[in-house]
Amino acid sequence: MRPTVTAAPLATCHDLAPACPGVAAAIAPAPPFNAVHAARVEQITKQDRASGGEALRGRHRTDRRRAAVLCTLSVMTVVALVAAARVDAAAGAIAHPSLWPGPLDSLEGFDRASRAVLIEYAAALDDAERMSTAELQGALAAKSFDAGSVAHWLDNERRRVMLNYQRASNRCEHKDWTCPAEATSVAVLAAVGHSLPAAAPAKFRRWHEDLATFAKNFALEQLRLAAVFPTANNETDVFSDIEWTGESLPDRTFALTFDDGPTSAGGTTDQTLALLQALNKSASFFLLGVHLETRIANDGAAAVAALYGHQCVASHGWEHHSHATWDDWQGSVMRTKALLTTTFEPIAVLPLFRPPNGQRRPDSRAFFASQSLHVALWNIDAYDWNSSFDGDAVAGRVITLILLRRHGVALFHDIYGNALSALPKVFASLGRVIDWPDCHLLARL
Ligand SMILES: [Zn+2]
Repeated sequence: MRPTVTAAPLATCHDLAPACPGVAAAIAPAPPFNAVHAARVEQITKQDRASGGEALRGRHRTDRRRAAVLCTLSVMTVVALVAAARVDAAAGAIAHPSLWPGPLDSLEGFDRASRAVLIEYAAALDDAERMSTAELQGALAAKSFDAGSVAHWLDNERRRVMLNYQRASNRCEHKDWTCPAEATSVAVLAAVGHSLPAAAPAKFRRWHEDLATFAKNFALEQLRLAAVFPTANNETDVFSDIEWTGESLPDRTFALTFDDGPTSAGGTTDQTLALLQALNKSASFFLLGVHLETRIANDGAAAVAALYGHQCVASHGWEHHSHATWDDWQGSVMRTKALLTTTFEPIAVLPLFRPPNGQRRPDSRAFFASQSLHVALWNIDAYDWNSSFDGDAVAGRVITLILLRRHGVALFHDIYGNALSALPKVFASLGRVIDWPDCHLLARL
């Protein structure tokens, strides 16, 4: 099935555009998500050096509003010329789990909602697999399309869906629509998904309509990443046994991670740490060396170490460049490791490296092994870096992906503020069903 064709989005002038993209943006492929995120980090990094990240974000919002007026006019004139506009996959999948007509904070309620999400997602995967290569390439609008990588990802994704469905089905009652008989394959789950909303009671209709859209968009989002792998590699696969995405964590267990900090004193890094302390949650912070160096220069190493308290820290490299293409990628890793080691107590520093945007060299295993580092990826991208997401959108996406993934590592950023409002909603919605383990657990993956 082809994805729903929509008009080119009028929100073309998002805050990353250096100038009004006008006609070009209406017809050009969306930039890879990672490129969008990288651009945001680079902008905030530069501004943090000059006058503080918050000032930049305020200016972005002003610029965005000003640009939006001008751009909307020009984009509206060309929308009619675009015969078949693409799905704006870079917008990110958003869901509204509050539409689920049942509890999520009990084991039975969580498992039932998890089964329902997996059924919807199985149908979305099935739709994607039924597309021709040309149709899928058109839907993804990716810069490149590696058919082998896409097929490999689909195989793995089907396996993950089935394993997770089995984990969610311990207490299945066959009178429940989420517990079809003989649910032994993703194809059976997809068939149930395709039969919705008729196959479920009417009270599930609004949830189904919302989740079906999410599942389709999320499948395309992930397929888009798989399509550019390994040329522009990312978190959708690993190259070796020293790389992980968090899938070995137990069922209903998620590690919290935050990238790109620290910000300047009083910024969102400090606020994130205060929130975690207030909520008694443990997390790992993947620091950029250049940001850590600046914070130490301003506040002193002892104050920076004290700021992070009992949380864990690890390396995100010296600067937010691709560690697949940057000539000095090894120097970046070594300098950051040295600064972390001299700043923090050994217990606080995890032997992990998280490549910016997940980009690392396929042949980097020997180097990381020589540095006694593992490559720490993730399987939930909170999209808190995306300017079209607010705290509610981040929370809805993360809760839904927790129901889908059931275990793993959630990626947030402490240089944006969305996690501050999203995380309390996530914790409140899921209660004690999810285990958020001590950050040191990541050192043992
Ligand atoms: Zn990053």
